[in-house]
Amino acid sequence: MGPRRLVTLCSALSIAAAACSQPAPTVAPETALRSHKPKEGKSSHADKASDDAKTDEAKADETPQKYSVPFAWESSKAEPLALTRAFLREAFEDNKAYMEHGPKFFSAFADAELPRATVVTCSDSRVQPQGWDETSENDDYTVRNFGNQLAGNEGSIEFGVEHLNTPLLLIIGHTGCEAVKAASGDTSKLSKPLQAQLKTLQIPRPSQGKNENQAWAEGVIANVHNQVASALKRYGKRVQSGSLTVVGAVFDFRDDLGQGPGKLIIVDVNGNGEAERMDAFMSAVNGSSGDGHALKKTAKKELQTPEEIARSLAQMPGIVTREVASAFDDSPSARPR
Ligand SMILES: [Zn+2]
Repeated sequence: MGPRRLVTLCSALSIAAAACSQPAPTVAPETALRSHKPKEGKSSHADKASDDAKTDEAKADETPQKYSVPFAWESSKAEPLALTRAFLREAFEDNKAYMEHGPKFFSAFADAELPRATVVTCSDSRVQPQGWDETSENDDYTVRNFGNQLAGNEGSIEFGVEHLNTPLLLIIGHTGCEAVKAASGDTSKLSKPLQAQLKTLQIPRPSQGKNENQAWAEGVIANVHNQVASALKRYGKRVQSGSLTVVGAVFDFRDDLGQGPGKLIIVDVNGNGEAERMDAFMSAVNGSSGDGHALKKTAKKELQTPEEIARSLAQMPGIVTREVASAFDDSPSARPR
């Protein structure tokens, strides 16, 4: 075993540095080191004892604010520092490539934030905005947390909805959500902050006869409905006036819902979850009969004009339309930006 292997082994087993032939490096805390400095004008034995006691207290109370900068001492690519350096190296490479968008691209949004959507989604690393928006710059005002919830992030969400005036509040849950799974089980052994984070997720018991994945997906959808309900409590007036639509969706990268891996599925619009209404909403979103069937049921012939679509949608229970064709106009002037 070479000396590098030995260091790795010692470090992995958390053996004290002294026990190794080659001491394992540590990331030294800097404020703790400073607290050992003797103070001027206090030289008596009693003062020194008192100082030592204070220093010990301070050491116990004060978390160091600063540690030395680690650099390239790892001996395997799997070590935390090696992974950190690899991630950052790639981040800087990607950033360099991103900068090639050029000054015109960045100056377009340098002075004003004009998003169309406040997006609340989970911090899960498998859930990323490019799953639903290739050009999210200045369009997605995104708030992320463990379990895509409103609780705990009310201020951030309010800024998007009430100050940036986004017409859409889009809450996106996802299949395989660890927050939903954790909240459905025993949280008593988790840390206080995690317990607090999960306490606000109210996941109902799964319906009978569901396998584990189906029950999990059901919990994910229930959580999205709960979050939409919370949003409606808070922003109901805006929804009523038509200046805000609250949409709940599930990003299904596991294909647990059987519509294809990676599909973004709308499950709630302003508190509605019925399949027929979701279908009609999708038709309205797409400005056509889209991939839904609801409109085909109500329409004898293929719908052509926005007026025809609006009229057809108006026949659906729970769907409100206006006699404004421009609602379906996708021309840039119709876009609120
Ligand atoms: Zn999640």
